[in-house]
Parts: sequence; structure tokens; C-alpha cells
Amino acid sequence: MLILGNGSNVIFLENYHGIILLDRIYGISFREDRFFWYVHVNSGEVWSKLVYKCLKLNIFGLENLAMIPGRVGASVVQNIGAYGKELKDFCDYVDIVYFNNGSKIRLNNSDCKFNYRNSIFKQHLLNKCYVVSLGLKISKFWQPKLYCNLLKLNCVTPKNVYDAVCTIRKYKLPDYRFVGNVGSFFKNPVVSINRLIKLKNYFPDIVYYNLNKNKMIISAAWLIKYCGLKGYKFGTVSVYNKHALILINNGSAISRDVAKLACYIEKKVKNYFSILLELEVCLVNKYGIVKDFKTFLNEKY
Ligand SMILES: Cc1cc2nc3c(=O)[nH]c(=O)nc-3n(C[C@H](O)[C@H](O)[C@H](O)COP(=O)(O)OP(=O)(O)OC[C@H]3O[C@@H](n4cnc5c(N)ncnc54)[C@H](O)[C@@H]3O)c2cc1C
Repeated sequence: MLILGNGSNVIFLENYHGIILLDRIYGISFREDRFFWYVHVNSGEVWSKLVYKCLKLNIFGLENLAMIPGRVGASVVQNIGAYGKELKDFCDYVDIVYFNNGSKIRLNNSDCKFNYRNSIFKQHLLNKCYVVSLGLKISKFWQPKLYCNLLKLNCVTPKNVYDAVCTIRKYKLPDYRFVGNVGSFFKNPVVSINRLIKLKNYFPDIVYYNLNKNKMIISAAWLIKYCGLKGYKFGTVSVYNKHALILINNGSAISRDVAKLACYIEKKVKNYFSILLELEVCLVNKYGIVKDFKTFLNEKY
């Protein structure tokens, strides 16, 4: 059984032979105390609408995560993130239902083992449960997180941050309703500080961010651009010319075309930097979710 929200982060390599559940469990409720807002939201709600609704209700904090496509259930699975914020920063609890016996349990934030674009739902609980609702705990003391272009804001209010994020996203990202894409195709590689220092000796311009006090995140877009692949066209698939981490369907691409371009990019980045890019996109073959293109392409790369 495969659960889909909007399918915005999934590529079907071939026709799936199982049952697909489309997550359309709706409902949002709010409560508050002196210090926090508590939002209980069911998994089928559209994430971007939730962010907008919170802003309208003067519940501030989610602005950096504006306009991320998809539904709430998947936002938990993926631990979505943008502009220095991640879902895990607001997650209080997650309610899940086990497929095997239908039992419902509540996991707290630490149970979910959130990590950069990762969670227990992509690891131990993969294919074992359905995320049915999410509890958000949002501080009433708004602290803006200004990151990249947001640092240029003159007047920092929640509304301005929200508007700026939407403007940047509209400019930088292709609209997936018209141009097929899954957002970031690869994860930004996470490296130790020592590894980064070594890389900086060879590549002084390398773009990176702090993940935590021991680990750094390298911009995968920068790595791909450095390999000369920004805007690269491979038959029916291209590397987007405004953002090298996005692969776009030029109209008639099939999964094999996408797989071949992705493998080519992986190979180039590995040869230049000795860094293995990891997929952010979720791949599905006829049996379910798979980790890479290897068996699909049935060839060494
Ligand atoms: C243009 C574009 C921009 C994007 N920008 C960002 C970004 O800035 N940051 C970011 O983090 N992501 C980004 N993404 C990726 C995508 O928006 C997120 O991964 C999102 O959470 C996917 O939501 P969805 O409902 O479409 O999930 P789907 O693609 O339908 O599913 C994704 C995975 O979650 C599983 N799943 C879905 N619902 C449930 C459920 N209820 N219970 C259990 N498992 C479930 C699916 O089986 C699948 O494995 C972007 C994508 C696009 C197309």
C-alpha cells in the first residue's frame, strides 16, 4: 500500500502494482495558552494553506515554510524545510495508524527522529504506518529567522517574511502544475567541519550552511553548477536554468530519461568532489518505494 498526498515529491519509475491511498483527511483546530498556539491538523490538509491560515489568524512562525507544495502528512514524513526552518521546529506530536492492526498511537517530537529531510517515517516506519495528524506548538513570541535573501528585508514583520518567501519561490522555482518537477531532486550533502575545510582548500567559493555545531550542509545546487550542469539539457529532461537542484520535464520525459540524467549528475559530482549525492525525491517502482535508480536502470553507473 502506498500513501500519497499530492505526489509532488514522487516519481513513478513504472506502474505501481499495489493500492494507492490518497490522503484527504481534513480538519484543523486551534487552542492557546499564555505562551503557545497549539494547532491540531489532519494529514490531508494542504500545507501551504495551513501556513497562510495561521498568518491570517496572527499565529506567526511558519512563514519561512510558505508555498511548499503538498499535504501535511507528507510534510511530517519529509520533515520539510526552507529558509532555515524545518517542520521539526514546530512539531509537538504526530498521530499514526499502523497498517497491520489499525492501532493508533501518538509520537512526540523526539520519537519522530527528525533529521535533515528525514524522519522515522522514512526509516523504521516506512510502509508500516499512516500519518493521520500533526500537532504544532508555536511560540507566541515571534522570532524571525532571516536566511539568505531574507536578510535583505528592510522591515521585518511576519507578513513581510511571508511575502518575501513567496516572491523568491515564484521567481526561482518552476510552477510544478505547468512544468513537471519535484523540487530539489537531491539532498544537500551533510559533511563534517574537517571535510568542509579540506574541500574549501580546493574550492574556496563552495557554498555551505551550518546544520549544527559538528555538521555543515553543502549546497548541492552549487556542486551541480560547478560541474557546468546548470541549464544542461538531456533529451526531454533538463537541469533548471534558475536552480541547478531542480530537474524539469521538457514535456515528454519518461522515468528512464530522468533516471539517466540524475545518474549523470551523480557521477559528475562524485568525480569532481568525491561526494555522493543522495536523492531527496521518493522513487516508486512496481513493488513500492525504492532507494535509488540502480535496479531500475539495471546497469552500473
Ligand atoms: C516546486 C517544488 C518545490 C518544493 N520545495 C520544497 C521545499 O522548499 N522544502 C521541502 O522540504 N520540500 C520541497 N518540495 C518537496 C515537497 O513539496 C515535499 O516533499 C512535500 O512534503 C510533499 O508533499 P506531498 O503531499 O506531495 O507528498 P507525496 O509526494 O505525495 O509523498 C511524499 C512521501 O510521503 C509519503 N506520505 C505522504 N502522505 C503520507 C501520510 N499521510 N502518511 C505516511 N506517508 C505519507 C509518501 O508515501 C511518499 O513517500 C518541493 C516540491 C516541489 C514540486
